Amino acid sequence: MFYEIPYADPVTAEIDLFVRTWEDLMQQRKRFAQRGQNYVTGEVRAQGLLDISEMVAEAEQRTKAALEKLIHKHPLYEWLKEAKTAGPRAATILAMIRHPHRFPGQKCSEGHYLLPTFEIGVPCPCAAWVEEQGSEQQPCTGVVEAPRLGTGARAVWKMAGQYPITTEKGVRLARKMKGVQSSHNGRAKTAILMPQGIGQQFFMQHSRYETVYYAAKERLLAAHPEDNKPGKLGRWETTARVIAAKAWLGDLLMEWKRIVPLGEYSVVGPLCGQPDAELVEV
Ligand SMILES: [Zn+2]
Repeated sequence: MFYEIPYADPVTAEIDLFVRTWEDLMQQRKRFAQRGQNYVTGEVRAQGLLDISEMVAEAEQRTKAALEKLIHKHPLYEWLKEAKTAGPRAATILAMIRHPHRFPGQKCSEGHYLLPTFEIGVPCPCAAWVEEQGSEQQPCTGVVEAPRLGTGARAVWKMAGQYPITTEKGVRLARKMKGVQSSHNGRAKTAILMPQGIGQQFFMQHSRYETVYYAAKERLLAAHPEDNKPGKLGRWETTARVIAAKAWLGDLLMEWKRIVPLGEYSVVGPLCGQPDAELVEV
C-alpha cells in the first residue's frame, strides 16, 4: 500500500470522488458523440452512439448537481459564497488541494506535494504513476525537500501545470512529466482560466477579485504603455487574470488553513476503500 495524501475533511474527500466522476463522464460524453458523428461533415455514423452520449450527458448533469449540493456542506462554503465563487469549478480546486497545508507544504524532488510533516531528505512516500494504461504504480524515486514559505497559491498554480521544469532533456511543462502522479494535471488551469471557469465568475458575479484584476491590469499597462493597444493588450490581460486567480487561491488557502489545523485530516472518502492509516504520517 502506498501513502495516501490525506484530505482535510470527509466532505473534500467526497467532493473529489464526484469531481473525478464528473470529469470522466464529460470525457466519455464527448468521445461517444465523436464516434457517432463526423463533426467535420455532419454525417451521422451511428445514431445509437449519439443516444448513449445523451444518456451520459444526463449522468454528467446529475453529478454536477450533486457537486453543487455537496459544496454547501464544505467548511469553506461560507467563504466561497462570500467570494462569489461557490460552485462545481471551485469544487474541482478543493478536490485538487485535498488539504490546505500541502501548499506550499513540502515537495518531493519528483513533484509530489505533501503535508509539511516529513524529515528533509527521506524518500517520498508516494507512488509514482506511470501514465500508460495498465501499468502498475511504482514507488516514487524522489526525496522530500525542505518545507517552503508563502500562502501556497504559487504552489497550487505550479501543480496546475503552469510552469516549465528543467530536465535532462531540456525545459518542458511539468504537466507532461512522466512517472509522477498526474491525475490533476491541467484541471486547476481549466477550472480557473477556461470559459465558465472561476476567473470568469469573478466578472459575472462581480466578485472582489474582479477589482484585483482591474488593478493589476492598470498597473501592468502603466508599466508597459506601448502595449496598450489591440493585439498587444491580450498578454497583459492574461497576466492580470492569473494575478487575480492567484489572489483568490491565496485567500482560499489562508482561510482553509485557519479552519483546519495541520494535524486534522481525513484519509479517504467513503467510496475509496479501506485506507491504510498507518502510512499517514500526520
Ligand atoms: Zn514523490
